[in-house]
Parts: sequence; C-alpha cells; structure tokens
Amino acid sequence: MLVNMKDILVKAREGHYGVIAPTIRSADEIKHAIEAAEHKNSPVILNFNITYDFVAEDADLELVMLVARERAMRSSVPVALNVDHGKDFATCMRGIHYGFGSVMIDASARPYEENVAITKQVVEAAHAIGISVEAELGCVGMGDPNFKIDGKYSHTTETNPNDVADFIEKTGVDCLAVSIGNAHGPYAKDIIPHINFELLDKIAEITPIPLVLHGGSGTGDENMAKACTRGICKINVSTDIAKSGSELAVEKLNENPKKGRLDFHTNFHQGYREKIEYYMDVFGSTNKA
Ligand SMILES: [Zn+2]
Repeated sequence: MLVNMKDILVKAREGHYGVIAPTIRSADEIKHAIEAAEHKNSPVILNFNITYDFVAEDADLELVMLVARERAMRSSVPVALNVDHGKDFATCMRGIHYGFGSVMIDASARPYEENVAITKQVVEAAHAIGISVEAELGCVGMGDPNFKIDGKYSHTTETNPNDVADFIEKTGVDCLAVSIGNAHGPYAKDIIPHINFELLDKIAEITPIPLVLHGGSGTGDENMAKACTRGICKINVSTDIAKSGSELAVEKLNENPKKGRLDFHTNFHQGYREKIEYYMDVFGSTNKA
C-alpha cells in the first residue's frame, strides 16, 4: 500500500527499529525494492534524487512516478515515496507535483537561520496537502574526503544538540536527519566510522520525532543495528546495494560470459535485492509491515 512516510517512521520510532530507504536508479529497481520488502514483510521507503538521476527530466519523472505509485498501491506492504536531498523549495514542490508523498529539504550546508527559514517554507506548503517533510541538521558530508560535489569538497558538521528543539519547533518538520559520525558514499580505505552514540542518545532524548541516518553504506552492521534501537528510524542506503548488484552481475559474467551477458540485469537486480533484504534484518524491520 502507498503510505505517507511519517506513518512508517512514527511506528518505527515506537517499535525501536529502522526502515531502509534504498536509492532508486531505474524503474526496475522500484519493482525489486518493493518485492524485497514483500519477501521480508517489511515497510520500505523508496528514495529518488530528482535533480541528478534518471528522473531529472520532467517527462521521465512523470512516467516513473506512474509506475512507482501504481506498484506501491498494489503492494501488500507499506511503501513510501520520498524525494531525497531536495536542494531547494522548487525541487520539493516539483516532487510533490509529480506525486511524492514526502520530501527531504536539505539546506544543511547553509547557515542555521537559513536552514530554519527554507525548511519552514517547505513544511508549510507540504503540510497543507498532507505531505511529510524530512530536514537535516548538522551536515552529513562524504566518507571519502577527496570526493567533490559541484567542484567543492564536501564538509561535515556534527549536529548541535542545542539546536534540535529550536529547529523542530520553528520548522514543524516530521523527521530529522542527523550528523553523528556517518557520511555519504564509501568511507576512505573502507574504515568503519565511529558513530557518536552519546550524541544520538542526547538528540533522541530531546525529541520524540523519528531520526534519520544518511550514508548507511559501510557504516557497519553493528553500528546501524544499535542506532535503530536508539531513535534512528530511517537509514538511507545507496552505495552498498549498487555494489552488491554489480558484484553479483560481474561474478556471473566471469563464470559464464555468454549466459552472464544475457542475464546481466537479472543478476544485478538479484544482488541489489539480496542486500536490501539483508539490511531489513539488520535494521529490525523484518515482519514489521
Ligand atoms: Zn543523504
């Protein structure tokens, strides 16, 4: 069933488990992510980057959302469709126009007061028509310090717990992405990051709203399982599931080049799906649909 992201996350916070938000990079991945959720009897949140990815063009976004909404409605488990990293008000409104039930506004790299103002503007518009909103406080950068976005190195700022109550009160946001040692993309030299659980506990004590962990890939099963019992309700995973898919496809190709070529996409999707199911067990959302 197609549901609002807030419904999934409020239950997760009460039940002390996390829900995976896999990045969707093709219409096929919509099918496989939802089937993984059905197989595990778990809720799932499909994350789309509508600025850069395969839905950057309006015509593609419109068609893909027809497929996504229809598949979600036909599904036996709760499915939410979320705009990941909406960079400004217009991007969020574009997502809502094409049928997303929730949007993330990411103004986390801007000064605090600007982040508050932009988030508030998105929340007011979205809530008027029942759309849920995620925002980010503190800034989650890239795990690899040499990685550049738009020609600039990403930077990371830990979430300041003293801002949390004020930010939530002023913006009315439904869930909050936090920066507690996590980072986007692969970590340099595959180091498992140190997650600041003391900070997570502090934030979780301040607010009952669901917390979000970006950059789940490479963060370590133990870290993530623990975070899910302590206030983290949504974990974004992109690199790990794409890696799992491509590794399986390449392995099968090397085993049997002729068959591996014909089954390349099937094998990719099998690997993609297996990793999603694996994380549903790690995050504790299996059988929580
Ligand atoms: Zn992110």
